[in-house]
Amino acid sequence: MKSTLGLVESKVCFRCKKNKSLTEFRQYKSGINKGYYSSYCRQCNKDYLRQYSKDRPWIKYYDHSKFRCCYSTQKRHKYYKNLEFNMTPNDFKFLWFRDRAWLLEKASIDRIDSKKEYNLNNCRFIELKQNQLQGLKERWDKFARDERRR
Ligand SMILES: [Zn+2]
Repeated sequence: MKSTLGLVESKVCFRCKKNKSLTEFRQYKSGINKGYYSSYCRQCNKDYLRQYSKDRPWIKYYDHSKFRCCYSTQKRHKYYKNLEFNMTPNDFKFLWFRDRAWLLEKASIDRIDSKKEYNLNNCRFIELKQNQLQGLKERWDKFARDERRR
């Protein structure tokens, strides 16, 4: 799609329907769409993603938990390496509504039994502060147990 001058290439954004310069569109660097331009302009893409995560706030928690659990490059991975991750975005959605996570000041996902894996029965949304305190308490208890053994 070239302009009449043939210098500036442009394209109509599928979302805002504006005719914009190709530089306003992301170009696929790999995959089957390689070389093609995204159908949404950069601005629309951003708006779309923002709206998407706003409509589905639990996805963020799913991504974070899964990432912590499954990728060895993560700094905190050593604490999670023996854990399985058996959850889907829908499980997080279920928990989000069950625990009314949007009412929490700062929601965080908690494994009820911290020795057990991530699964629907072992997870819940709780206040981040409560989660951190609990982690602290567990570490303290473990420390106390280890001390007693000496
Ligand atoms: Zn657009």
